[in-house]
Amino acid sequence: MVKAIVGANWGDEGKGKITDMLAEQSDVVIRFQGGANAGHTIINEYGRFALHILPSGTFYPNVTNIIGNGVALDGKKLIQELKSITDQGVPAPHLIVSQRAQLLMPYHVLQDTYEEERLGGKAFGSTKSGIAPFYSDKYAKTGIQVCDLFDEPRLRERLHAAVTLKNVLFQHLYHKPSLNEDELMEDLLALREELRPYVGDTVAFVHQALKEGKTVLLEGQLGSMKDPDLGIFPMTTSSHTLAGFGCVGGAVPPTSIEDVICVTKAYSSSVGSHTEPFVSEVTGEAGDELRRRGGDKGEFGATTGRPRRVGWFDAVATKYGCMVQGATQVALTCLDVLGYLDEIPVCTGYEIDGQVTDQFPTTPTLLRAKPVFTTLPGWKCDIRGCEDYNALPQQAKDYVDFLEAQIGYPITLVSTGPKRHEITHRATKLN
Ligand code: GDP
Repeated sequence: MVKAIVGANWGDEGKGKITDMLAEQSDVVIRFQGGANAGHTIINEYGRFALHILPSGTFYPNVTNIIGNGVALDGKKLIQELKSITDQGVPAPHLIVSQRAQLLMPYHVLQDTYEEERLGGKAFGSTKSGIAPFYSDKYAKTGIQVCDLFDEPRLRERLHAAVTLKNVLFQHLYHKPSLNEDELMEDLLALREELRPYVGDTVAFVHQALKEGKTVLLEGQLGSMKDPDLGIFPMTTSSHTLAGFGCVGGAVPPTSIEDVICVTKAYSSSVGSHTEPFVSEVTGEAGDELRRRGGDKGEFGATTGRPRRVGWFDAVATKYGCMVQGATQVALTCLDVLGYLDEIPVCTGYEIDGQVTDQFPTTPTLLRAKPVFTTLPGWKCDIRGCEDYNALPQQAKDYVDFLEAQIGYPITLVSTGPKRHEITHRATKLN
């Protein structure tokens, strides 16, 4: 059976922790979309890790980790990340890289950087890791698959075709130096040798694992709001962040996904640029304090170190985010972070042109939305590390009950700290 662990919001919901925890009893963990442009933070007996490309089952010898065909594979970063974790004493993980995955090329990173430069004040706030040009090339069919590395004449031909196009763009639109095709080819051949031990037929592997009754986790990157179709376009990423896309990017049959665990934080955070709509945002001193206290080391991007924007829990966005993921259950993380507050606002509606709604709108309308808050009492104590839901203060339980009633999806896991076992199980009050 397949369980998907995906984000309900803007990413950084704490999916890495939940995946790491569930991987303990799983056989396969699959990354099915995105690239090394976001990070999952995992804290375990080996230390604190920000994984960017490796799946979160990396720390378990019982897990086969898969980089699915839907991923933007930055081969160099993968090899570096593997080395960095083994250097920290972690045993080499079982890893299979799909032969159908496509390679994120150095020119994708350059194009991303040049384009952001060209856009100036109108830039998307990209992480400049080449993700948008990568997926554009994939759909324009000029991308290079991992399997192409093992057929040199084909590789050369595909590289030549791609470089021809890029050079026109680089010289005439961006006024930058042209690419050296021979150097790129040499680098690809060197990368091939480093990737060789990991490359395999992940499609056959996953189908066989399912036939054998194995448990497979799909690990999502970012969250619903960042999906190019159902998120806040164009302030989205360029690959689909929804569990449904796991069927494509992770090659699992749609009928095998039995459980969709939607992860959301007890407050909001978003790493996007300041031009993005973020209705429940808290700014000023209150925002700085929430940012400082958030996550395990403050709300700063795991990949970029950028300060994340923070806000109160947004029930409108989260209800929609869970709906489009098809959530069967919800994991609420970072409840412990809110223990310092006398009162906790929750965004329960959007006021748009004088009307209050709880329906999540499209981008032009969202840009006009103002938050409507309901304020709940805080619990004013430290609950970090609590492993028994019933032992939580009443106000904390009331807060969770309120969120569950607002979003309409069962909150079954409530996380009380960044470490693997700092989590409580909760019986839903929905029927
Ligand atoms: P992901 O990309 O969804 O895996 O999220 P990130 O790892 O980027 O961000 C989540 C942050 O919250 C990380 O710093 C985690 O260590 C931290 N975290 C996860 N769960 C909890 C929790 O329950 N409490 C606290 N305080 N931090 C948590």
